[in-house]
Amino acid sequence: MNLERLGATAELRASLLRIAPDLTLARVTVSHRDRYRLIADSFDLDAEPSGALWYNTAARAAMPVVGDWVAARVVNPEQAIVEAVLPRRTLFARRAPGRREDQQPIAANIDLVFLVCGLDGDFNLRRLERYLTLAVESGADAVVVLNKSDLCGDVAGRLAEAATVAGAAPVVAVHTRSAAGLDPLRRYLADGRTVALLGSSGVGKSSLVNCLTGEDRLRTAEVRASDSRGRHTTTHRELIPLPGGGALIDTPGMRELQLWAGEDAVDRAFDEIAGLATECRYRDCAHTGEPGCAVENALGSGALTPERWESYRKLRGEAQRHEALADPLLALERKRKWKQMHKAARDIYKSPKHR
Ligand code: GDP
Ligand code: ZN
Repeated sequence: MNLERLGATAELRASLLRIAPDLTLARVTVSHRDRYRLIADSFDLDAEPSGALWYNTAARAAMPVVGDWVAARVVNPEQAIVEAVLPRRTLFARRAPGRREDQQPIAANIDLVFLVCGLDGDFNLRRLERYLTLAVESGADAVVVLNKSDLCGDVAGRLAEAATVAGAAPVVAVHTRSAAGLDPLRRYLADGRTVALLGSSGVGKSSLVNCLTGEDRLRTAEVRASDSRGRHTTTHRELIPLPGGGALIDTPGMRELQLWAGEDAVDRAFDEIAGLATECRYRDCAHTGEPGCAVENALGSGALTPERWESYRKLRGEAQRHEALADPLLALERKRKWKQMHKAARDIYKSPKHR
């Protein structure tokens, strides 16, 4: 496998040469507990973490996950030891289960995420806003994919609706019922690019992966239904190289909505609302009827829909609670910065230049 086709860069190779010239560059394609499957230049390898990686890694969060680039010590043509995880460019994480609200990484180095919605019964702008927030948090770009367009009588209408919340993300309608149905999506796959699929169960992610890879690697719902072991034991996170270069990551963990996103990500996903808030007359405007409230004005004029405003408040509230639980000091710091930022922005708007 030519690792450049999977996104290896000159920087990545150089950084490995610098820290460990005797080790081999490889990418994690499957991560299951402490066993990994790796792709390296010359072969695929089974791997385990080295003792040093295991004991020196303070946070469990720094252990390899699917998509990670690692420094591997090849033991024999089939086995390797992972000595280090190379710096991650992007990261999807979820809240670790349990009381302590740690981030638990689930997939790394994703360039682009397909936020998949179904045009059957699943279509829901509020859920889409949540997915967009998660994409922003991860650092990956997003494409909104409206699947099952064959079942929808008003595809143009749905595209327009989705565009109202998608921000900079392109919106495409596709279906998996014919090869041509996926054409709008193919231009987003590229040599060296890693794409992940995110969306609720049943929207057609496995079908999309099957069509895009031209293989029946993942079982779709019909098959799973007849499998008594159930879907969770039959699927796993996997990075799948694409025939034309690039890779797809299908991660069952990312189907759930318990992904991690902070307040900053919410603000960026709803940037027009964050922008409005800087125009309120009072610095600590709670947007609950204060005079000169830009949010109230936008709600009054219809420039902002009550549904979107509610969605923003809900996601921001969630992010705030989780950030405060995970790191009380960071949460306080963020709050202070946010206020300063709004004040600074307001001072600019109020300066004579802007009058
Ligand atoms: P996943 O849970 O997101 O992986 O969804 P699946 O790929 O398992 O698909 C769920 C169901 O939707 C299956 O019955 C698929 O056959 C069906 N499906 C997937 N894509 C399409 C599509 O484009 N059109 C229609 N009509 N059905 C689809
Ligand atoms: Zn306000």
